[in-house]
Order: sequence, then structure tokens, then C-alpha cells
Amino acid sequence: MKTCKDAIVASTWNRPFEAPAQIPLKADVVIIGGGIVGVSTAWTLARQGIDVVLCEKGHIAGEQSGRNWGWVRVQGRDSREIPMMLESLRIWESLEKELGEDVGFTRGGCLFTANSEQQLRGFEDWVNIGREYAIDTRLINARELKKLLPASAINWAGAMYTPSDGRAEPHKAAPAIARAAERSGASILTACAVRGLETTAGNVSAVVTEHGVIETSTVLCAGGAWTSLFCRSLGINVPQLQVLGTVARTAPADAVLSGNVFDERLGIRRRQDGGYTVAHGSVLGHLVTPASFKYFFKFLPALMQQHKIVKLSFGREFMDAWSMPKSWALDAPTPFEDKRVLNPLPSSRALKGIRKNLDTIFPQLSNTPIVETWAGMIESSPDIVPVIDAIDSLPGFHIAMGFSGHGFGLGPGAGKAAAGMLTGKDSGIDISALRLHRFFDGSPIKPKVSI
Ligand SMILES: Cc1cc2nc3c(=O)[nH]c(=O)nc-3n(C[C@H](O)[C@H](O)[C@H](O)COP(=O)(O)OP(=O)(O)OC[C@H]3O[C@@H](n4cnc5c(N)ncnc54)[C@H](O)[C@@H]3O)c2cc1C
Repeated sequence: MKTCKDAIVASTWNRPFEAPAQIPLKADVVIIGGGIVGVSTAWTLARQGIDVVLCEKGHIAGEQSGRNWGWVRVQGRDSREIPMMLESLRIWESLEKELGEDVGFTRGGCLFTANSEQQLRGFEDWVNIGREYAIDTRLINARELKKLLPASAINWAGAMYTPSDGRAEPHKAAPAIARAAERSGASILTACAVRGLETTAGNVSAVVTEHGVIETSTVLCAGGAWTSLFCRSLGINVPQLQVLGTVARTAPADAVLSGNVFDERLGIRRRQDGGYTVAHGSVLGHLVTPASFKYFFKFLPALMQQHKIVKLSFGREFMDAWSMPKSWALDAPTPFEDKRVLNPLPSSRALKGIRKNLDTIFPQLSNTPIVETWAGMIESSPDIVPVIDAIDSLPGFHIAMGFSGHGFGLGPGAGKAAAGMLTGKDSGIDISALRLHRFFDGSPIKPKVSI
């Protein structure tokens, strides 16, 4: 198996850093993080004429947003995400036209297969939820599924199917949105870690970056896996844990499907280049760190629900996280500069499973080589639903985090919602259920969907 020899996906992060020659002295809004949520927020704000600066410590889409499976789906989501996801799908639909760039979006449909009649019936609840939102999700029987996947060697009982769901190319999407934000007037700074904030009379008054200070009264932290650490340095408690997802890309091959297919052994989608992006359907790793203990009780319902999928492992990461500083001086390098790109190693167990399951389910692809492999750290909140919220204890500071394994598709809608929160203008997307306080006010923490 070749690893990253022919790196289309990894070219997003395997390249030299480009630090800014100079940085703006002030801005209306500063966004921390150049993932799909940060760049979508910057793009929305810049088009409204707002002076926005985005600071990314590494590369645009260098972490989760460039490493994901590329599924853009509403099917199976927690209902709190559905209105935002439907808005996102609307944005995805016209994104290439708006950006003037290719992002590989297409509506190829989404299938969650069922191995038994009982598993198929288990999807009925979500089909009913989908119906409330006029989504075209339905259950299909074995015969109809065979017509959609004639090359599969598995006799599934049927599937949940949403023809209008789609996919896009992660290595293209966020960078293209960032470039569009720049063309609309945003400053997009890479290799520019934010070390912390300055406050005046208890309100945010500036962002301190490794290249200098930017005066601002409004900050959004869309820092992905780093959000909890950043917030902790400000004395703000944001429960967040991470799981390792391993992904592979095949060479171009025969068309055995057109959209996204999830089976508990395999997550697979057709790529724009004619290959497939593949992952194991049920192998995610949680590398235990001190945060696992700190947030144990808040994440217990999620761990119980996901125990068959998420395998715990103890290793070097525990000591690395243990020795990582929890607060720091703002005039010296911080953990954000020490690790500009979170680039975990793929799991060899997951890769073996991917190859085996791909060959079993789609024998026609058994001679198709895997030409690139990579991994990403998926960050999650305790109920596997994002937080998009203003932080009351620090006026001017806001967060957008916890997008779990579903934030790529949600990104454009999340950016629109976050922009509305920052400007106080109605975005048309209700984010009241996404407040941070739900993890502290005694509300039951009930994850309803998978990571
Ligand atoms: C393996 C895998 C598969 C997935 N599959 C899918 C899928 O098919 N569909 C889907 O919808 N979602 C999927 N996801 C989830 C999706 O990728 C994420 O939810 C989404 O990309 C999160 O975007 P983000 O902008 O919040 O975070 P990120 O993309 O992680 O971006 C955060 C950025 O903030 C930067 N940053 C952090 N701290 C600082 C700082 N102090 N200063 C400056 N910069 C900072 C980081 O460097 C990073 O680039 C998957 C994720 C993974 C890892």
C-alpha cells in the first residue's frame, strides 16, 4: 500500500507554511481557525462589508476540514442540526457559481445500509423526522438497493436513502471559500497562531497573534480540536474530546456507486477524480488523555452509545497532553505554534479493515490500489452536536466547535449562523439549542446520533 506518495489530499497540509508579511492593526471581527467553519464565517461577513481577519496557525483546511470523508448529508442528523444543514445544502448547491471555483459538490445520494429487517425498521424514526422537514429520505428494500448497488456482494435487507444528499472534495472546498473571502475583502492569515486575547474593562479588546496584536471587540474561536485548550487558557470550560479517524483514497476505478454508502464495515463515496474515499464504518480510536478523565461524566452517555465503534487506547498522547501547558505568556511561542498542524498517523488496524471490507463488499474493486492514506482528529462535544454561542463571561468572545464527524457538510450553514451571531443580524438559522450552557445547567446530555 502506498502512503501519501501521490498526495492529492495531503497536499493541503504537506507544504511550506506561508506566514503573513504584515498583519492588520485592527478589525471589526477576528476569526481563529481556517477550517470550513472559520472560512465560511469570514466569507459571509466579508460579503456584508464587515472588516474581518481570519488567523490560521497552519494551513487553511490543514486539519479536520481537509481530511474528512466529504459527505454532505442531512440524513441521520440530530434534529437540532437539520435547519442549519438544509440551509447548508442550499449554499452548497450554488457554491461553485458563487465562488467561481470547483469544489466537487454533487448530489449523488446517501445510503445507510441495513443488515437485517430489524435494523432497517430502526431507521423509521429518522425517516419520520425527515418527513417533518420535507426531506426526501425513505426506506428502500433489498431489491431497490441492489439496483442502486449492483456490484455489491452483500445481500443487505435494505437501506435508508436520501437521493438529495451530496458530497464535495474537502481538499478543495475550504481553500476555495477562503480565497472567495479574500476577494470580498477579508484578510486570511496563515501560519499565524493566536496566542490569546487582551481585554479592557472585562471585554475583548484585542487578539494577540504570533505576528503582533490586532485590535478588535469581536472574536470567534472556530479552532476545531484546539478550542477547549484555547478557552481553558481564558478560564472558560468547554468540554471537548477527540477521536482518531483513518481514511484512504483509491485510484480511479469502475463506477460501483455514485454517492455515499455507509455500512458498519465501510464508509465509501465516489470521488470527483473517479476513485473512492473509504474508511472503516466502525473503527474510531479515542487516545486517552487527561481531558478524558476531566470530561468523563459529561461524555459517558456518548461513550456508552458509541462503545462498539470507539476503541480506547493509552499511549504517548497521554503524557504529551499532560505536559502541554494550560496557560502561557503571550510574548512567547505557545502550543499552537509548537503543533501547527495536527497530523496523526493512520491506524494500521483500520487500514487493514478498510482493504478487507472494500474487497468483500465490492469485489470489483479488489484490484484497485489504495494510493493515499491519512488520518484526522474528529472533535466532539458531549452530545455530538456543535456549540455556536457567545460566551457571557467574556463579552465579545464567541465559539463554534463540536462539529463532530458532521461539520464539513454543515460548514457553510454554520458559517452563516455564526456570522449572524457575531453581527446580531438574523441569519434565519435558529442556534438557541446550540448554546454551551446546556452542558452545565443540568439539561440531560443525550447523544442521538453517531460520531
Ligand atoms: C476522518 C474524518 C472524517 C469526517 N467525515 C466527515 C464527513 O464525511 N462529512 C462531514 O460533514 N464531516 C466530516 N468530518 C467532520 C468535519 O471534518 C469537521 O466537523 C469540520 O471540518 C470541522 O470544521 P472546523 O472549521 O470546525 O474545524 P477544523 O477544520 O479542525 O479547523 C480548525 C482550525 O483552527 C486552527 N486553529 C486552532 N487553534 C488555533 C489558534 N490558536 N490560532 C490559529 N489557528 C488555530 C487549526 O489549525 C485548524 O485548522 C470528518 C472529520 C474527520 C477527521
